[in-house]
Amino acid sequence: MGDSKSDIRMILQKMRSQAPPHHFEFSEPFWVLITTMLSHRTKDEVTDSASRKLFERYGNVNGLAGADPHEVESLIRRVGFHGVKAVRIIQVSNIIIDRFGGKVPSALEDLVSLPGVGRKTANVVLSDSMNIPAIAVDTHVQRISRRFGWSNSDDPEVTERRLMKIVPRDLWVGLNPMLVEFGKTICRPIGPRCGMCSVNSYCRYFAKRKKS
Ligand code: SF4
Repeated sequence: MGDSKSDIRMILQKMRSQAPPHHFEFSEPFWVLITTMLSHRTKDEVTDSASRKLFERYGNVNGLAGADPHEVESLIRRVGFHGVKAVRIIQVSNIIIDRFGGKVPSALEDLVSLPGVGRKTANVVLSDSMNIPAIAVDTHVQRISRRFGWSNSDDPEVTERRLMKIVPRDLWVGLNPMLVEFGKTICRPIGPRCGMCSVNSYCRYFAKRKKS
């Protein structure tokens, strides 16, 4: 079993068959951006609830751009680093209005020029809300890629480039949410459920564990 695109396609299909469906709180680019900015160091349910409150209170980019930072902070108070994030999301909303005519830009370089927006967030926005092929490498994608032997690096950008080489382009959209769910339920950070994993016969981590 190598890293050919047909091997990877088959492996990802097997993973997909075992991963539960991913819940998307929003599909509209602006709210996907805001939700992803809030998500760092925060549980999914807390992030989703905070984003929902912001959406209900402010509705769109114009509403959030003119929001009072203290009010935003209080609406997202259960989110990690809520003070910094409150200021950031207001700032980003204003930049989207001033520089991009109120529309979330669809170019990676424009997205990463926004304060607090890195490649992972930008790639989530592109793939999950715009269907633009992109691979977001978060902790789940990074861990699974390392364990599987797809990447030898701890640098998410290196892993992203490696995945872009080996994963067929038509599978990039949807790859991150699928691996997130696979990582939460099967290839868990602690105590991966290798015995019941549908792809254990292709996994380097599992092969090493069996030998030791
Ligand atoms: S065999 Fe274990 S380490 Fe490998 S992908 Fe499956 S759960 Fe993860």
